[in-house]
Amino acid sequence: MAERRRWTPSPLLRASAALHVAAAAGVAAMPAMWPWALAALAGNHALLGAAGLWPRCGLLGPNLRRLPGENARLRQIGLCFDDGPDPEVTPAVLDLLDSRNARASFFCIADRAARHPALIDAIVRRGHTVENHSWHHSHRFATMGIRAIRREVGEAQRILTGLAGRPPRYFKPPAGLRNPLLDPVLAGFGLRLATWTRRGYDAVRRDPAGVERRLVRNLAAGDLLMLHDGSAARDGDGRPVVLTVLPRLLDTLSAHGLAAVSLEVVTDDRRSLP
Ligand SMILES: [Zn+2]
Repeated sequence: MAERRRWTPSPLLRASAALHVAAAAGVAAMPAMWPWALAALAGNHALLGAAGLWPRCGLLGPNLRRLPGENARLRQIGLCFDDGPDPEVTPAVLDLLDSRNARASFFCIADRAARHPALIDAIVRRGHTVENHSWHHSHRFATMGIRAIRREVGEAQRILTGLAGRPPRYFKPPAGLRNPLLDPVLAGFGLRLATWTRRGYDAVRRDPAGVERRLVRNLAAGDLLMLHDGSAARDGDGRPVVLTVLPRLLDTLSAHGLAAVSLEVVTDDRRSLP
């Protein structure tokens, strides 16, 4: 089990709590003010909801969206593969990474990992890290209450720690969507939220060239790129798009003198936080 980290509410969450207290006190002192208090609270909840629907937002708590400055100076690029493991795609991704001496972090769905323990073993053995992408990858994740969130994160943490032999350090919610209850849960498990600098939409787009273009647009050292080894979209010939994109992407990185790394290299992520 990773060490718990101390949860500190973000400035937006602190302001929201203060607003609730002020609204209650205001209505107690001047009951006729209730429509204004209600409108202020409704506006606040709309803002909190919108922040959770914006994956790269840092208003609800720390969010690793790119590698820290030190890693950028070393010309490193963070590479993440989500939604696996997958018995067809994951081994091919591992072979491609090996062939270019590249490393990556695999954000695994624990329910899938439990069905393919040998793949988790291969990911670890070949020098990559296994991170937490929830137990079931429920599309209702962002609407869950704290108990259900704790179960989705905690069961995944337990299963993945058992399979990988080391606790995941990072969590990514399904589709990157979340609510304000997630950050305190992550703190309890010693996890940090990670999203991305850019994604290629390789789980939905069927054209490898378009996926590759999105991933390398404005490419810079320290970027955190997200692809999928699970739920991979397929091109017109039925080939997983990621398997066409990945070798080209790795060639582009080395042509720019950039090295693909896993999140293992991130030692101080405070500097990259919002
Ligand atoms: Zn996912």
